[in-house]
Amino acid sequence: MATMLGVLGGGQLGNYFILAAKKMGYRTAVLDPDPHAPAGVHADKHIVAQYENVQALTELASICSAVTIEFENPPVSSLEFLAQFVEVHPSPSCVAVAQNRRDEKRFLESIALSVAPYEVLETPEDAERLSRLGVARRHLQPLGTPLLMKTSRLGYDGKGQQKISELTDISALWQNVNNVPCVVEQVVPLDAEFSVVLARSRNGEVKVFTPTLNVHLDGILDFSTATTATTSIDVQFFHDGERAAIRIAEELQYVGVLSVEFFISGDKLFVNELAPRPHNSGHWTLDAATTSQFEQQVRTLVGLPLGDTAMTHDAVAMVNLLGDLWSEKEPHFHVAEEDTSAHLHLYGKTEARPRRKMGHITVTGTDALSVTRHAIELRTAITG
Ligand code: AMP
Repeated sequence: MATMLGVLGGGQLGNYFILAAKKMGYRTAVLDPDPHAPAGVHADKHIVAQYENVQALTELASICSAVTIEFENPPVSSLEFLAQFVEVHPSPSCVAVAQNRRDEKRFLESIALSVAPYEVLETPEDAERLSRLGVARRHLQPLGTPLLMKTSRLGYDGKGQQKISELTDISALWQNVNNVPCVVEQVVPLDAEFSVVLARSRNGEVKVFTPTLNVHLDGILDFSTATTATTSIDVQFFHDGERAAIRIAEELQYVGVLSVEFFISGDKLFVNELAPRPHNSGHWTLDAATTSQFEQQVRTLVGLPLGDTAMTHDAVAMVNLLGDLWSEKEPHFHVAEEDTSAHLHLYGKTEARPRRKMGHITVTGTDALSVTRHAIELRTAITG
């Protein structure tokens, strides 16, 4: 019988992993507490249980030969448990770094990569010091407001973040998040954001996808663009970002797909954060790269040589479809379906909630600006 591969988490990323693995001839299993998780429909086996349920983890380990993740927050102890019996990639220690903003920033600084100026906020003394003095020490320039308070753990898509307009508000804002460990980060003027998605195999082979320009709205990715041509962004930033992402993967001895988000601010490049998995900004690879980020994930998990990451079109844009688009009525999907340059992806989620990622549209073409415009226009058209 074919080898079975497992994934913790059954959202859209887990589902694309399952689909890629099936296409390559593997059987698949997903562990997700939600009986309606999208990946559960396509996996050969859906274990419906909490991520720390030892019985469920034991079952997963007994039927799979290797397990990966689709989100950064499964308990590290569960990954360590699984790793006693089966291959687990990325390793629990790599996932642990990406789960904690403080540890992630300290790791990045330790390998001489820049992050937006920040301080940790973990004790009442930290709160007192930050309120009184500002956050001046580390980066030589005083950190003025606005700042962002981000919970060190369990924050994504802008969740767990609060804007600090006055330093004296720090203690009150901290209470809103029950005084859990946080980082307080300078809001840097953003000229652009981009991400680098790469795969690193067990024998250290690395393949990088074309860097992707990202535009966020309210902390959530709104649209992404990738192109083989030179963009309006100084291409040196992309080269530096690729080099930084490879460096991160090598320093961590990372095996799997790794996504690294960057801020361009003036002449500076900051690493924003790491995701130890495929990334929303890499969804275009499903329609416009020789190998998708999900096929790479399978390849890294089973120890196959990595696929070619070349783009199959000169330009591609992806727009997210959030639940907000469903607020009036079901969008007119046929408009996108009838468009031969567009690919509509719906994740099969049963409930459309505001800010929930329900699907995306990819548009391929020859230049970045026109595919981006086209994708955004299509999104408007399906709700018209
Ligand atoms: P995060 O969850 O940290 O990735 O933040 C989500 C988005 O909020 C980022 O992609 C940026 O658009 C914005 N953001 C987060 N941190 C900062 C910052 N320090 N300065 C400016 N914008 C930020």
